[in-house]
Amino acid sequence: MRQITLSATSAPLQPVHDAVLDAHGVRLSVLRLDLLHPFISGNKWFKLRPVLEKARAQGQRTLLSFGGAWSNHLLALAAAGQQDAFTTIGLVRGEVLRPLNPVLETAEACGMQLLPVSRTDYRARHTQAFLQAVQERWPQAFIIPEGGASLEGVLGCQEIAGALRWTGPATSPRRVTLATATGTTLAGLVSALDESVRVEATLVLKGEDRLSDQVRQWLALLPAGPRARWQIVPGWHAGGYARRCPELDAFITGFVGRTGIPLEPVYTGKMMWSVYGRMASGEIPSGSEVIAIHTGGISPPST
Ligand SMILES: *Cc1c(COP(=O)(O)O)cnc(C)c1O
Repeated sequence: MRQITLSATSAPLQPVHDAVLDAHGVRLSVLRLDLLHPFISGNKWFKLRPVLEKARAQGQRTLLSFGGAWSNHLLALAAAGQQDAFTTIGLVRGEVLRPLNPVLETAEACGMQLLPVSRTDYRARHTQAFLQAVQERWPQAFIIPEGGASLEGVLGCQEIAGALRWTGPATSPRRVTLATATGTTLAGLVSALDESVRVEATLVLKGEDRLSDQVRQWLALLPAGPRARWQIVPGWHAGGYARRCPELDAFITGFVGRTGIPLEPVYTGKMMWSVYGRMASGEIPSGSEVIAIHTGGISPPST
């Protein structure tokens, strides 16, 4: 059996050179998890690996999960599943339109069977009744929650903390920043760092309270130990998940032009937009050292 070995420590930690940062006295580097693999991008590998191991240990060879038509999670699952000889099934919200978009096209090319789920049914995806119906239809399948949101995923994301390297003085306030949707990667980082670090997670959708509760629940399930201070940063979702606005688009164009570091508008663009916004407002003070986690992502077309 071929095993994929992607390790967080092989991701480059790239210093960002930008006059805007110099003007604010902030040192920023980006942990390029997006460069680890073309399809198993960013944080998705860390969330999936323990889940794949669990499925294998239970003798299950079929993996099933859910996602939208531009789901980085389904794409990563298809690619990771293929390399590990799993059968993969992706239940896609809404329709599976042909010709397929690049995300679904690649997922299918990796052997994933794509099946549409009506938007109404998809809304019930977290309910026991829905999951039971799915399990009855595919009795042999190991079901992975949408986005890989699970305690196994949290444990897998702890590895990312091992790749952080601080280069500034130890007296500088240290912040790790990332984009968050399910809170899985956030909880992994918080549980693997100590209180000398502050983890700030830009929320890419609405629903701050629910997400904080979920993160607290996961942390409570882990063995007691040091924890980073953490915060969910609301207010930068541009109207909701995958929504965008002219300010966000202009920020992304400017940042990519100045630094050469790619960002997409759904996750990493909102994260960096919030970093620069909070730097300008003084919320991230001069003298801070910030490491941004580049969680990957493929850019959907503008709508
Ligand atoms: C899935 C994804 C995230 C969100 O990670 P969570 O662990 O669900 O919070 C962030 N960035 C990118 C690029 C993603 O694809």
